[in-house]
Amino acid sequence: MDKIDHIELGQIVTRIYNRYKDDINVGKVADYIPTLKEVDPRGYAISVATIDGFVFNVGDYHTGFTIQSISKVLTLAMLAPRLGDELWRFVGREPSGNSFNSLVQLENEKGIPRNPFINAGALVVTDRLMDFYKDDTDIRLSTRAITKEAILRFVRGLSGEENIDFDKITAQAEILTAERNYALAHFMKSFGNIGNSVQDVINTYCHQCSIRMNTEQLAKAFLFLANSGVNPLNGERIVGLRDAKRINALMLTCGLYNESGDFAYRVGMPGKSGVGGGIVALIPGKLSIAVWSPELNSNGNSHRGISTLEDFTTELGISVF
Ligand code: GLN
Repeated sequence: MDKIDHIELGQIVTRIYNRYKDDINVGKVADYIPTLKEVDPRGYAISVATIDGFVFNVGDYHTGFTIQSISKVLTLAMLAPRLGDELWRFVGREPSGNSFNSLVQLENEKGIPRNPFINAGALVVTDRLMDFYKDDTDIRLSTRAITKEAILRFVRGLSGEENIDFDKITAQAEILTAERNYALAHFMKSFGNIGNSVQDVINTYCHQCSIRMNTEQLAKAFLFLANSGVNPLNGERIVGLRDAKRINALMLTCGLYNESGDFAYRVGMPGKSGVGGGIVALIPGKLSIAVWSPELNSNGNSHRGISTLEDFTTELGISVF
């Protein structure tokens, strides 16, 4: 199938939604902070956005959820065009084979995280991004406040929705329980791979994780990566062609942590997950799709989200392969 038929797309998504809508108790909702623990495990939504402007939603697509690790792609997309190849001195681009918050590789690899999508790598990206907001002329605001505003502005611009915001209760709870992320950041700082204060980096990172979006907003926000780096909603270039290719490659190889290989095998799309239960994936030149279902598997990825995406590419007959 070359051009995607919108009617058929809607039928496929509806069929998959109906197949899985009663499928709960298959995983476990994240429980490390109250706002995640209290999420209704039955929540389920799918949104597809095509680069030619069609959007199809089904399920709880009005319900916002915290995007968590999905934010790591967005901060990378902000940083990559600014820093260029310099970035790869501070973070690698190989799958880690370990869980998202693992500490084990960092010592052997001298504080250089394997890739930008494990927590250590995302902390480095946020740290470097903060450097670009240091010289802002408004001295009443801290670097971290300016960076957080810039991240929000970026996400709002991508999805065309001004009401996207941090979930401040989640952000505070994340900060209070971020012991592992503190450990990662301090350890990397001991190798000279974190420049700003660890507290500022964690604060900014926990805020980006707490951004609340629904599946429609998320699918739209990722369309630029399906469209060679240009946001099809307004024609704005977000990243260059090469960065779009690279970010998509990183999502394919590292986007689901130690389940990235299995996700590529089953789903065949670059994707990124978060412990809030969201997964966003895309087919370059065609579409992006966001799924939300908060019950997670043992790797911290949405259980029903992966099945949904697997069926989607199978039934549509298109993937990146
Ligand atoms: N806030 C979570 C953390 O930093 C995000 C992790 C995730 O979504 N995998 O640990």
